[in-house]
Amino acid sequence: MNKNHRNLFVGLDTPVPLLNGSSRTYINLDNAASTPSMAAVKKAVDDFLPYYSSVHRGTGFKSQVSTYAYDQSRHSVLDFISANERNYTCIFGKNTTEAINLLAHRFPFSAARNVVLISGMEHHSNDLPWRGVARVVHAGTTPDGRLDEADFDTQLERYADRLALVAITGASNVTGLLNPVHRLAEKAHRVGAQIALDAAQLAPHRKIEMLDLDDPAHLDYVSISAHKMYAPFGTGALVARKDVFAKGEPIYRGGGEVELVTLDQVVWSQPPERDEAGSPNTVGAVALAAAILQLEQVGLAQVAAHEAELTAYALTRINRLAGITVYGDANPGSAAERLGVIPINVAGISHYLAAAILGYEFGIGVRNGCFCAHPYLLHLMGVQEEQSQLVRQQIISHDRRFVPGMLRISFGLYNTVEEIDALVEGLDCIVRGKYRGKYSQDMASGEFLPKGWHVRYEDFYQT
Ligand code: PMP
Repeated sequence: MNKNHRNLFVGLDTPVPLLNGSSRTYINLDNAASTPSMAAVKKAVDDFLPYYSSVHRGTGFKSQVSTYAYDQSRHSVLDFISANERNYTCIFGKNTTEAINLLAHRFPFSAARNVVLISGMEHHSNDLPWRGVARVVHAGTTPDGRLDEADFDTQLERYADRLALVAITGASNVTGLLNPVHRLAEKAHRVGAQIALDAAQLAPHRKIEMLDLDDPAHLDYVSISAHKMYAPFGTGALVARKDVFAKGEPIYRGGGEVELVTLDQVVWSQPPERDEAGSPNTVGAVALAAAILQLEQVGLAQVAAHEAELTAYALTRINRLAGITVYGDANPGSAAERLGVIPINVAGISHYLAAAILGYEFGIGVRNGCFCAHPYLLHLMGVQEEQSQLVRQQIISHDRRFVPGMLRISFGLYNTVEEIDALVEGLDCIVRGKYRGKYSQDMASGEFLPKGWHVRYEDFYQT
């Protein structure tokens, strides 16, 4: 196994209580949702806080240091994805969802070009924002969850004259499958459209290359979330074409984004300030830049190699368990060609219950449910329309007990083989029905709670 990277992170040795009254070092296998902080991120924030002050236009020394730190963070993001500063700008915001919404409202759709082509594997955050502003067309996915590129090509040709944008995820947050983004970029550009990459999942695990605007395979927009990149301080970024964001009006209006204002005139700033209304999250930007530096120091090739080893090992062990369905690609041999995100189900056990047992009895954090990708989940699970209609009715009547879903195991740079062994032990116990708790399900949330679980969260953290 590759190098152990645990010393680069904060809080990995934290004990958590178990149902039997003992405790165990927490095992976080929910990195596709959010990642723990890197130690370098915490240090950067600690080092920066004594200088924290207002950014831009402050004349005091601390304002100058803060402005410098904030501006440097932009350069870090742009460098991280090899985005040329002549053509691209980095607009900071809250997260990927906000970045995509910003793009959706600022993209220059026209009456003639108003179609957005997305895939059937998108997170809701790269689907719903487009529905409000354009006609959305979906390219299908194969039964095992890959982008159906033949269908993508068909849709692309069908809407060629009207296609404004291809909006696609770099990697699925459900199956970890990767998309051939540069090939899709070439196709989009060939018909006169642009391409926006949702890199929320991809950025912490693979090198992203924006490429130059005159390269047909270039990306036009990339969005990222720092909380998935070991920098949980509330920041995300949209890297965007400067030419597009130099025009049009910002969505949020206010201070920080204007050259001048009179009672009847406004002159907006140039990008990126034009789209950053109000005071920015400087600490978040500093944190993101520190995470980027640390990821670069480890090397994204090393990150990918380590996570591929974990994924191959996990798939090999999980495949040996009876009664487990792995969705997407279950082949350990292709672990290097996908991310370490493994969605499963245990035969005869609700995903809600399996997740609860892992949490309460084994101290393992995973995610269960539909992972904000409902259509993709139903497709992977082969849920028929009749059943989905029934479930929709139940959800509307506040009954989530039978909502189809999966258990998602997702790795980060710091996870280890020993943690996978603990997961497999937990799954084996579930498969054999050997878990100890007596669980009851809450109708409204669908979640299971074991009898006798009395924990005061204030014993662990006080506000
Ligand atoms: N896209 C993908 C592929 C994601 O996995 C997520 C988060 N799960 C998002 C977008 C949204 O990211 P955020 O919640 O940070 O806005």
